[in-house]
Amino acid sequence: MKTIALVAHDQKKDQMIAWVQSHLDALADKAIYATGTTGGRIQDETPLKVHRLKSGPLGGDAQIGAMIAEAQIDALVFFIDPLAAQPHDVDVKSLLRLAILYDTPLAVNEATASLMM
Ligand code: PGA
Repeated sequence: MKTIALVAHDQKKDQMIAWVQSHLDALADKAIYATGTTGGRIQDETPLKVHRLKSGPLGGDAQIGAMIAEAQIDALVFFIDPLAAQPHDVDVKSLLRLAILYDTPLAVNEATASLMM
């Protein structure tokens, strides 16, 4: 695994930061792509460098989906908030669909993300 995409919905961002901090060694040698706000927080709160895409609701999920379709992403960690409706729900579904379609390793909760690493 060389390239990983990280996305967290708003109520899941603290969990994403904590997860990243506890997997710094495993993530250090990977190219990290992230949606805008998630990526900004990872960059500010951890030592990792992040390629920031657009914010999820503004097309960031769609950008990651396109990268998966182009075989540019090796794994996706996507901390979805199961308790909140998302304005960009169609993009969320599209991203999940593309990860399934291209058989990209996909973790949508912390337990799976940790197993994946
Ligand atoms: P964000 O996007 O990191 O820009 O908040 C995540 C999302 O809601 O898909």
